[in-house]
Amino acid sequence: MSKVIIIGAGMGGLATALRLAYQGFEITVVEKQSRPGGRSNVLMENGFRMDMGPTILVMKDVFEDTYRAIGKDLNERIDFVQLDPNYRVYFHDDTYIDLYSNMAKLAREVEKVERGSAERLFDFIGTSAKKYELGMKFVDRNYDRITDLANPQALAELVSTKSHQNLYRQVSGFFRGNDKLAKAFSFHSMFLGLSPFDALAMYSLITYADLALGMWFPKGGIYRLIEDMVTLAGEMGVTIRTNAPVKEIRIHKGKVLGVELENGEQIDAEIVISNADLPYTYQKLINGNAVRDYSEQKLDRMSYACSGYILYLGVDRTYSHVQHQSLYFSEDYKANLDAIFKSKTLPKDPSFHLSIPTVTDPDLAPEGHSGIYVLAPMPNLSAGINWEEAAPIVREQLLDQLERIIDPSLRSHIVWQREYRPTDWENDVNAVLGTAFGSLSHGFLQSSYFRPNNKSQHTQGLYFVGQSTYPGIGMPMVHISAKLVTERILDEWH
Ligand SMILES: Cc1cc2nc3c(=O)[nH]c(=O)nc-3n(C[C@H](O)[C@H](O)[C@H](O)COP(=O)(O)OP(=O)(O)OC[C@H]3O[C@@H](n4cnc5c(N)ncnc54)[C@H](O)[C@@H]3O)c2cc1C
Repeated sequence: MSKVIIIGAGMGGLATALRLAYQGFEITVVEKQSRPGGRSNVLMENGFRMDMGPTILVMKDVFEDTYRAIGKDLNERIDFVQLDPNYRVYFHDDTYIDLYSNMAKLAREVEKVERGSAERLFDFIGTSAKKYELGMKFVDRNYDRITDLANPQALAELVSTKSHQNLYRQVSGFFRGNDKLAKAFSFHSMFLGLSPFDALAMYSLITYADLALGMWFPKGGIYRLIEDMVTLAGEMGVTIRTNAPVKEIRIHKGKVLGVELENGEQIDAEIVISNADLPYTYQKLINGNAVRDYSEQKLDRMSYACSGYILYLGVDRTYSHVQHQSLYFSEDYKANLDAIFKSKTLPKDPSFHLSIPTVTDPDLAPEGHSGIYVLAPMPNLSAGINWEEAAPIVREQLLDQLERIIDPSLRSHIVWQREYRPTDWENDVNAVLGTAFGSLSHGFLQSSYFRPNNKSQHTQGLYFVGQSTYPGIGMPMVHISAKLVTERILDEWH
């Protein structure tokens, strides 16, 4: 059976390793970092166990599908808790609402903001469900030709669901311009590194997935998923080598020969799958003579997603008045998003995502302590911000807001802390421009058929998996990506 090398032990790389090993391929995963996981990594220090990247798990059925494909049951191996509510949304004026999957409870919350808005909420959820149904047809498939995307039926459905319109404007229309509700039901595109002011209305399918399909938390945190995949990979004979950065993908006469590591070691394989960022793979791992799918100029012209600043805190107290997941929206949300995506400057009043996983799982911290994760989206490194100077400023802004919304004496209770800056993604996972959630943004011209293909057109045996090929950014999407690249390889190599 063919030998396969997977560059990168991110979630997509690991899911592909499991699927292909189950089909009998001989798999070696080579990972640059000392621990698998990539953007889904973990900090384990001073008794705190803190997810470093993703904290929100939606579309759990997609994770279950990876396990089903290898004859396992995800729910037998990992203990999931459904979050209820999914999020608390804090506004600048010290008010908040809770977003529930239960529609009756959700309706009660929106009525608190504006009387009569429940009916419009149901309209919004109904149309978002149609977008979800339509969107999944484009998400869960391989692409070979433009007609896979642009056919009369698909276009008619796109227009009938108004998916081609602007996301923020459309959501705002449903809620008759109520600013708080428009924010609360449109921010989800940020998870794809895309401003709701620029995104297609199609992306309210993410809002639907979050609210209607439920949000889950694996006991032990998101990194439990990585640990379990690594365990399964070991049982299935997959070799995972950490501290093994790849220097070059070896290609001869249009065919993959294997990889060369930074230490000069060569490993042979008929198939190489890069889970590293695709633009980085073309720029750094493929010798100039072999690069034909994407020229340097073409890579430069691509649109790159945003980055972020994260503060991880351990505090010596617990909270009964907070939720596991929250969002804080700055007053001038548009100015905040324009700073990130347009002017590429440091936001003056950053919005942020707050996660306190110890609310659900106290074992993630020493007894009587809480773990706090605060993620503020930021411009990527093309902004040229000096992060040595900027990080302390953002840190203080975030602590000020946390003291306002959750604990006035928070600073005096911090017993452990770490931070993560845009430059860290560049250094740790070779993220082009330090992009956080994924490298390529999700505008129309970088989605589905237009997103880079998971198969090289010019090099036989070279494939891609993960956030920079289709379907795109986010844990569920990279699991689907693993399924799609496996289908391709089984078609072509079995
Ligand atoms: C802060 C943050 C919050 C997020 N929140 C969420 C969320 O709540 N929900 C959600 O669903 N998604 C979220 N995401 C997105 C999600 O984490 C990613 O889209 C997903 O994990 C990407 O997985 P991947 O398989 O594409 O690869 P990556 O995680 O990007 O992994 C690629 C791997 O390749 C390795 N690599 C790179 N170059 C080399 C080389 N030369 N040699 C060897 N190895 C190499 C890297 O070290 C890395 O391990 C978040 C991401 C971040 C960063």
